Amino acid sequence: MNTWGSNVRAIETFRTLEKPQYLFKTIRFILPFIKHIRFVGEEGLKKGLNRYFKDKKLQSIFCTEPDLLSCLVPIGWAYFKDFQNPPKGGGQAFPEWLEHVVKSYDNDTFYHSRVTKIKLEGTTATGVEIDCRGTKYEVASRYVIAACDVETLYEKMLPPASVPQDFKDRLRNASLYGSSFTVSVALDCKAEDLGFSEEAIHITKQNISRKEQTAANPKTTELIVLAPSYRDATMAPSGQGTITIFMPAEMEQHDYWKTERDAAGNYIRGEAYNKFKNEVAEILFKRVEEKVAPNLRSHILFFEVATPFTHQRYTGNKNGTMMGARPGKENMQAKVAHYRTPVKNLLLSGHWAELGGGVPIAVKSGFNAALLIFKDEKPDVFNCYVNYINHKITATQFRALPVFKHYSNDWKQKQTPAELLAIRRSDTTL
Ligand SMILES: Cc1cc2nc3c(=O)[nH]c(=O)nc-3n(C[C@H](O)[C@H](O)[C@H](O)COP(=O)(O)OP(=O)(O)OC[C@H]3O[C@@H](n4cnc5c(N)ncnc54)[C@H](O)[C@@H]3O)c2cc1C
Repeated sequence: MNTWGSNVRAIETFRTLEKPQYLFKTIRFILPFIKHIRFVGEEGLKKGLNRYFKDKKLQSIFCTEPDLLSCLVPIGWAYFKDFQNPPKGGGQAFPEWLEHVVKSYDNDTFYHSRVTKIKLEGTTATGVEIDCRGTKYEVASRYVIAACDVETLYEKMLPPASVPQDFKDRLRNASLYGSSFTVSVALDCKAEDLGFSEEAIHITKQNISRKEQTAANPKTTELIVLAPSYRDATMAPSGQGTITIFMPAEMEQHDYWKTERDAAGNYIRGEAYNKFKNEVAEILFKRVEEKVAPNLRSHILFFEVATPFTHQRYTGNKNGTMMGARPGKENMQAKVAHYRTPVKNLLLSGHWAELGGGVPIAVKSGFNAALLIFKDEKPDVFNCYVNYINHKITATQFRALPVFKHYSNDWKQKQTPAELLAIRRSDTTL
């Protein structure tokens, strides 16, 4: 981190004099990756893995990966003990904490509010139009940061002429990550009683192609099983547990997951959709029973299924993609990743601003979008962030700087639903 911390900054945030140093550092960072880029696909991976693993059994661990870097990079993370773990209380803790910080500075947050339009004056963004439960609102602002699906931003929220057509075409043709069929399961016993612990368990079939590993065939496609309640006991009431089963999936598979279409072409999730997703979940349970937890089904209290349509509905991300655009030559050449948009004072953020996606990238892009605004509007604040990211000042020194309003750092985490249930149960017993 000390060496590579400044890699968090996007190139657009560097001042002209800093750029050569940045380029030098970036080249040093990416050099070890370059020699591995060519090992892609079934044959490429065979050659690439032969360089590192003689044992065919070890090689077979990577039977679902599309390229060599996808095998090596997680090994690098593990080597440096760079594991992603949500805080106690799960991912839910992040928005709760963020809301506290926002409100501490007397700002507002609005829920159930969908941005439908970016307001423009000429070619400059001046705010947003919002739909909140059928009522239209307008918010005026000097800058707009869009942390949402990039295609929706350019094709639905802006007038067609404000973004060049060839740019929109390049984005439409970008190579994206797939989506997921996700089953969240509540158990009447602890996950560890059924044999789960902290690992991510991959259940794969060995004799199928890499393509089939992601074909969302519930009988053969790779499954990943996690036990959130093992990692964090606040996720389930005492004596009970949770597991999550993921299967790579795409929206168009299984005849669009048996959805129907209305006259306007919208997908309708009807009876056939609900029946089918539950049937698929049952097949996944059976596979997990065969390999890990023989009596899983008899311990299920209830379960929820999210298909690619669910992920699309809740996030707005195209095709329910999990992480936006993939890293790789084509997306780089098409300049898919960007922060500054063709509209002045409208910035892109979230996982669409970079290639690679995931929570770390979303955090990185939020930082960079804010940094770009400070660069133009508040150079003193910009310098403070740069000093912090370059390890010239500590987090404590950074927070104490007079350019920032005081923040009392007094967030108290709320109890999770499972903890609240435990309290209610003990009240009833008394
Ligand atoms: C099943 C699954 C598993 C994953 N596992 C991991 C993992 O293990 N590690 C990891 O790093 N990443 C993982 N990811 C990816 C990670 O969740 C995303 O990359 C990350 O959440 C992206 O953050 P974001 O803020 O850019 O966008 P999102 O999390 O997609 O959030 C976008 C937000 O914008 C809102 N929005 C959209 N349109 C509008 C609009 N018009 N008006 C107002 N609001 C709008 C949405 O409601 C949503 O709240 C996973 C994703 C999925 C689906």
